[in-house]
Amino acid sequence: METQAIMDFEKQHIVQTYRRPPFVLERGEGVYLYDTEGRRYLDFVAGLAVNALGYGDPEVLATMQAQAAKLIHVSNLYHTIPHVELARRLVEHSFADRVFFCNSGTEANEAAIKFARKWARTNFGEGKTKLVAFSGAFHGRTMGSLALTPRDKYQKPFAPLMPQVAIATFNDLDSAEAVIDDATCAVFVEPLQGEGGVNSASCDFLQGLRELCDAHNALLVVDEVQCGMARTGTLWAYEHAGITPDIMTLAKPLGGGLPIGVTLVTEEVAQVMAPGDHGSTFAAGCLVTALACLVFDRISDPDFLAGVREKGQYLQEQLQVLQAKGVPISQVRGRGLIWALETPLAAAQVVMGGYEEGIIVTVAGEHVVRLMPPLIIEGEHIDELMPALERAFRKAQESA
Ligand SMILES: *Cc1c(COP(=O)(O)O)cnc(C)c1O
Repeated sequence: METQAIMDFEKQHIVQTYRRPPFVLERGEGVYLYDTEGRRYLDFVAGLAVNALGYGDPEVLATMQAQAAKLIHVSNLYHTIPHVELARRLVEHSFADRVFFCNSGTEANEAAIKFARKWARTNFGEGKTKLVAFSGAFHGRTMGSLALTPRDKYQKPFAPLMPQVAIATFNDLDSAEAVIDDATCAVFVEPLQGEGGVNSASCDFLQGLRELCDAHNALLVVDEVQCGMARTGTLWAYEHAGITPDIMTLAKPLGGGLPIGVTLVTEEVAQVMAPGDHGSTFAAGCLVTALACLVFDRISDPDFLAGVREKGQYLQEQLQVLQAKGVPISQVRGRGLIWALETPLAAAQVVMGGYEEGIIVTVAGEHVVRLMPPLIIEGEHIDELMPALERAFRKAQESA
């Protein structure tokens, strides 16, 4: 099919839950994507923080080929090797004692909700079912996690939502204290909100939540679906606050582009779950978990993590240079390799301008441009981004 025919078919036959730009991506190499017309794009979205190792990585391909030749899927009914190897890596490098595998971020949060409800019921009886989340949060779009994602556009058309949810103000401990009580079974927080605009939870806030959860026998759930796995420069984004959660959810980058979700838990939480309590047909498939082992080994390497911090600092400096040059950016915020540019302009306009300049960036709100490149990005790519990004902003400014 011709490029235009592909886009026409999409318009006609795909449920229009996404507004896609006018090009068709066909292949990738390193940190670049190529469309069907042969145009090259420098990728600062990484498939929504998924493609941490970029495109066409030879180890990724070799691992997939080797595992695909052995076994792709047999279901959770049977013992297999790669899912155990992945679990071992995850528990050795985190607070967790056990993991539950699923297929996406929203599923990982659904599992966390169910685990918290059963944990509370088992230990404290009926009535301890309340869940707390925060303004600006994004925890997913299925009916449980959607209730923890307080945005009218996402929630209103699908009401009624799961009951027993309270929303407090992000980074406001007084607001959290007002809703966390003895009826609360779990508090969900992103240590760095991605979709909500790249907002870091302060150390005080995370420490305060830990104390409130302890005081009221509630579980602290950190959603690291977007900010985990080195994105902020440390393996886990909660590390800098010096706290330990009871549950952590992961997804986006772990599967190297294949779908995976994980709910990591302490032994105490795991103990309430029995055979048949929860499950998933596709979860922990051999292909995806074998690939995730490789992704995890590469990303958790201390040198790799140091590289993310270094390149992140360089990216921050260069973005601040852009701001100092008078590009309409009111704030530069982020950590590691996830950054937001707050702008008075329409962020979507800047993104469109970027496509014309051969760069791919995205939004995180109406006036926030978000950058989250593959973690293998180099300084030279950051240098390449800057003039194109500047032109995208200038263009948006002129047409405003
Ligand atoms: C993307 C995201 C999710 C949902 O993940 P899906 O894989 O799209 O279901 C949940 N939490 C956070 C923080 C996310 O960024």
